[in-house]
Amino acid sequence: MNADLAKRVRFCTTLPSLPAIALKIIDLANDPNTDINTLCEHIVYDAALSAKILKIANSPLYKSRRSATNIRQAVSLLGTHTVIVVSLSFSLTDSLVKKSGNLPVLDSHLFWRRSIATALACRALGEKLKKTCLDDLFLVGLLQEIGILVFCTVMPEEYAPVFSSTNDHDTLLMREREMFGTGHDELGYTLLKQWHIPDYIAMVCLSSHGQPEPKALEPTLQACAATSRYLADYFLNPHAPEKLGQLSQAARSWLDIDESILIDVIDIMKEGLRAVEDLFDVTIHQPSEASGILTAAKELLTIHSLSKVKELEEKSYRDGLTGAYNRGFFDESLKREFELSIQHQLPLTIAMIDLDHFKRINDTYGHIAGDGILVTVTRTILGQIRQDDTLCRYGGEEFALILPGTTLAVSRQVTHRLKEAIAAISYHSENNSTISITASIGVASYMQDINQFKQPADLVKAADSALYAAKSEGRNQIVEWQNT
Ligand code: GH3
Ligand code: MG
Ligand code: MG
Repeated sequence: MNADLAKRVRFCTTLPSLPAIALKIIDLANDPNTDINTLCEHIVYDAALSAKILKIANSPLYKSRRSATNIRQAVSLLGTHTVIVVSLSFSLTDSLVKKSGNLPVLDSHLFWRRSIATALACRALGEKLKKTCLDDLFLVGLLQEIGILVFCTVMPEEYAPVFSSTNDHDTLLMREREMFGTGHDELGYTLLKQWHIPDYIAMVCLSSHGQPEPKALEPTLQACAATSRYLADYFLNPHAPEKLGQLSQAARSWLDIDESILIDVIDIMKEGLRAVEDLFDVTIHQPSEASGILTAAKELLTIHSLSKVKELEEKSYRDGLTGAYNRGFFDESLKREFELSIQHQLPLTIAMIDLDHFKRINDTYGHIAGDGILVTVTRTILGQIRQDDTLCRYGGEEFALILPGTTLAVSRQVTHRLKEAIAAISYHSENNSTISITASIGVASYMQDINQFKQPADLVKAADSALYAAKSEGRNQIVEWQNT
């Protein structure tokens, strides 16, 4: 990290300091021998914390069948680890919210609303993924953006323009790194270490802002934390499709989960919302809004997953280099059009288009220029055909064109235009050569000889033999299949 900044954080007097109870709890958290008695002793000294612990033990978040009437019962119900982590969440939030109220840069209410929504999201993800450390997840969610608070405190003037320049969290992090050589992830980690927050918590705040690691068998704290940021952003803005897009991508790349699981997680968040709002004295959503979130999410996520499927389907039908349809798509489309032609006695014409002496072009100008020409030729052909026509890359430098409802006579106009347009291409290569290209075209039409064409492959064979003739007659020409 930027050494100057690290020093400023270390010696900053305006950074929130921790109340005695938080310091004590951090001590307990770092001590493997902490027992229930010691813990209870410290909690009962702090009236506010005691009330919260009692409340949480009886809250729907901890679906216990028994109810707790005193701290000892609450601690034994929740377990020492949970009580320590939950107490940390409360005491840190409490002191930080109070201190951050007078920061000029930050709307502290919005900041904590988002942090608590992130904590709720992180916990809900853990619950859905059957993690046991739900309280750790809550704390990690709560603290992972604490570095923003540090920036606002340590260098308010310099940070203000960067902070207000974007609403997007990833962009903010990038700009911080550009401007200050450090992001709020590292700054937050520095503060948490200064506070002696256990390393497994502090580290997650740092690593959840990085790149997803190869998927672990077990969903990690880090992956839940990273996804929870996007989940919280969406939960706070349930009608924003761009937030949903980011969430869906994050969920896939960090946790390998899809939209249907996200819907369940949002449902869990909705269930826990009241309890968390109540415990932290914050309103994340008005009750009337909360009920709409799940409906909005379901609608948006369904649309999103459908368009995703469509996109994937599209991708598997497209050739990677040129974007034209691929051979598989050609076979399927031709079969369909062929059947339709038979059924309705409609004309159907196909054209095989093969670039002339393409090997020579590669040999002279290189493969990269060759690839560029294939892309340009595709664009040129697409510019000349109708919406109903289908252009496929049949093989290397050979294209196949399906012209449904088109007679041989009408196809002549199209193929002639194509031949001219390809010959008119002048491609400028990277080393400043201007390259020209021609194509030979073989055409066959279903109406031309119904009896000969029993199946789609017969039509392809006929167009191919016409193409072969165009090549042997000197290239750069169109030959129509003749039944001889
Ligand atoms: P003809 O006029 O007889 O068609 O001659 P040609 O050289 O075009 O035909 P041939 O089939 O002998 O060679 C085709 C060449 O197309 C060879 C191959 O390197 C090139 N080619 C095929 N696919 C690609 C590709 O994706 N990128 C590039 N750059 N070249 C390709
Ligand atoms: Mg060729
Ligand atoms: Mg060829």
